[in-house]
Amino acid sequence: MALHRTQGIVIGRRALGESDRLVDFYTRDHGRVRAVAKSARRTRSRFGSALELFTLGELIFFDTGRSELVRVDHFDIVHPFLRVREHLERLGQGAWIIECLTRLTPDRDSQPALFGLTLRSLRALDSGARPQRVASCFALRAVDLLGHRPRIDRCMECGRAYPFPEAALDVTAGGLLCGRCGAGSDALPLSGAAVGLLKRLRALAWEEGLRLPLASALDAELAATLEGVMTRLIGHQPRSARFLAQTRRGLSHHPSPSPLP
Ligand SMILES: [Zn+2]
Repeated sequence: MALHRTQGIVIGRRALGESDRLVDFYTRDHGRVRAVAKSARRTRSRFGSALELFTLGELIFFDTGRSELVRVDHFDIVHPFLRVREHLERLGQGAWIIECLTRLTPDRDSQPALFGLTLRSLRALDSGARPQRVASCFALRAVDLLGHRPRIDRCMECGRAYPFPEAALDVTAGGLLCGRCGAGSDALPLSGAAVGLLKRLRALAWEEGLRLPLASALDAELAATLEGVMTRLIGHQPRSARFLAQTRRGLSHHPSPSPLP
């Protein structure tokens, strides 16, 4: 039995019983933690609105050691990331980031660097960076941190050094395939410009990557490639990706989303 204190981000929540709430946190020191917040759904809950999605807080939880569920003792808001929840595209990309995190990390696996990356991504979304670029930059770094960094310097099958035409990214093989080796596979086709961009983004600092000006076709290829990588790692398309596709169809009728206040 132990009381733990750490920073945590709310990454999921649902009702439990009559008045409790089941809350998933991604924490700095313990990775993903599933917790029960007692009486959190009562009107006068001591948690107030603290347990909203994306909220960063100081979490104190009690671990009995008898169950995978811990009990939330305190959760004090450090940053609510309100703007991420108030805008459809930001909400959708934020949900995608969190879904990747949830699907690709086991419970209680401490990865402070991944926690830091998630926090930086939420901050970027909250401060008005382009949501799709934030998700791309998150995915590129998360894949590295999770140990799936693809090799983009040679064909993983025949060893031929890049550049070669008709390159494709094979997540299972761990990197690029040349046109001959990738023929007929479900590897993700990648333009020469996109391979160069992946290389460049790896070398850039976080903020520089977020601001790097790109032609819209290349920007879209980057996003589609990283979404494809995540879909393959997870084993299916994230649910939030479908929500995003619907959001985009809706937004295309209103091409200029309202700027931040
Ligand atoms: Zn090859």
